[in-house]
Amino acid sequence: MKLLDNGECNNLYGKTIEIKNLIADQECAASDGKTFESRNPSDQRDLVATVPIATQHDVDRALDAAKDAFQQWREVPAPVRAGVIARLGELLAANKETLAFIITREMGKTKKEALGSVQEAIDTARFFQAEGRRLYGQTVPSEMRQKELSTYRKPKGVVGVITPANFPIAVPSWKLIPAILCGNTAVWKPAPDSPAVAYLFGKLWQAAGLPAGVLNIVYGFGRPTGQYLLDAVDAGKVQKISFTGSTAVGRLVGEVCGRNLIIPSLELGGKNPLIVLDDADVDQAVEGALWATYGTGGQRCTSCGNIILQRKIYAPFKSRFLAAMEKLKIGNPILHPEVDYGPMISKSFYERFLEHYQTGSKEGAKLLMGKGRIDANNPWPNFHGDAEQGYYCWPTLWEKVKPPMQLALEEVFGPTTNLIEVADVDAAIQVANAPNYGLSSAIYTSNRQAIYQFKRTIEAGMSSINNSTTGAEAHLPFGGVKGSGNGMRESGIWVIEAYTYWHAINDDLSESLQLAQMDTEYLATQQEVDFAALLP
Ligand code: NAD
Repeated sequence: MKLLDNGECNNLYGKTIEIKNLIADQECAASDGKTFESRNPSDQRDLVATVPIATQHDVDRALDAAKDAFQQWREVPAPVRAGVIARLGELLAANKETLAFIITREMGKTKKEALGSVQEAIDTARFFQAEGRRLYGQTVPSEMRQKELSTYRKPKGVVGVITPANFPIAVPSWKLIPAILCGNTAVWKPAPDSPAVAYLFGKLWQAAGLPAGVLNIVYGFGRPTGQYLLDAVDAGKVQKISFTGSTAVGRLVGEVCGRNLIIPSLELGGKNPLIVLDDADVDQAVEGALWATYGTGGQRCTSCGNIILQRKIYAPFKSRFLAAMEKLKIGNPILHPEVDYGPMISKSFYERFLEHYQTGSKEGAKLLMGKGRIDANNPWPNFHGDAEQGYYCWPTLWEKVKPPMQLALEEVFGPTTNLIEVADVDAAIQVANAPNYGLSSAIYTSNRQAIYQFKRTIEAGMSSINNSTTGAEAHLPFGGVKGSGNGMRESGIWVIEAYTYWHAINDDLSESLQLAQMDTEYLATQQEVDFAALLP
């Protein structure tokens, strides 16, 4: 690993990491030598990494390496493959603080959240190290004598993995760990805003003993580098794509996979509702909604997009929520670890966030709090650090919003949410289901009937009762419905379906040609039964 001088930031944040693509266990510059700079979003003076922009040639080499490695890796017994995952888990745990620091430095989430993200990767490794001894098939009874039926799980081949910056180690671990455990090999394109933790994750896989070519990492932007990986599906070089990101790009991935009859894993955006009914504990609901909305500066797929309030609780909730918002501490999460949230992940996320103010005012929504960027003209009283050095945004809150306003239906991906007033639980669930997303959801109430109705009728892959919309555990299925995904799931035993296919075996020991359905000994004699006489 090569570290470069980072000038005045050496002492504050550390040196600059010189990142290279990882192809067949070799670190390689881009074939045309081009690089980009990854800067600390909390403080633009800090150059976190210089990063190659992988070319078509680089992506092809990575795919060839993955294809070659597949032939050997698939033959390694699953419990032995799991040994690599076990070692990876130990290395992740041993380096948890450093990885979390790099996550905070390059994408701006708080230390507490960054530690949680690394823990999710550790938990995933621990779960799948055991799963290597449990990649069960089945024995199945045959219709015929002297014939055995059984099933095996087989790996799919080369998996293309494309991930976003907001969970730069947890989300890749959800994909790479089960894919590789199941005997696949991978080419991974991490997000351009979080290359450094990807680079370190690659180093840990190597240190864990992963053979050359099983994991290859190519860096760059969606276009062209990510696109090269999708083009490889058309070229027949990829047998599976696992993508987490926006719904718009997810559709592109779905199209290319669809025409090649490949089932991708698509984990996409969300407009996650949080319902608060009249009988809820207001303080508990405010605390959950505040975390769901402003944690990670609202840059989570499970961030709360609409707070749906029953009529009587609307006013008390609103006043306590606004009071809680005023206490939010915002700022540089490395120099001030006590902040509630840090900067927008990058300039482009910040610019997209600004657009929602225009949408809201055009649609006639009422802005209760929020002024876009925090800077000298719009200072946030509880700010810690130098606001001019990063893209820090005001916590924002709207009311007088309802479907079909775009503000109520579209994901914003930033520190903002809407208060929507409804009459009862029926109306609440109707509003909750209005967006064409269905990732996460939450309800605050103690009414068991309402909870039951919510569980039955909410259109979402995940729901919380009396807790926030965010949060995942490594052994529970993660994913959404509608525009939030294509029904595949991450995590737990469910994700194994994504990275294996079932192979059914007919083993005939009869030494003759037995034909199913035709040479089968169905019971020959059947008798009529007449119980009519038993009735009066
Ligand atoms: P994005 O779709 O723009 O980018 C995600 C990844 O795809 C990046 O690595 C990017 O470089 C790559 N990419 C972009 N265009 C591409 C193309 N044409 N071809 C191939 N690759 C391409 O998403 P984003 O804006 O960076 O991330 C935020 C989005 O991700 C939000 O919508 C959020 O809800 C979603 N997200 C979903 C989950 C989930 O599990 N459901 C988790 C985290 C984030």
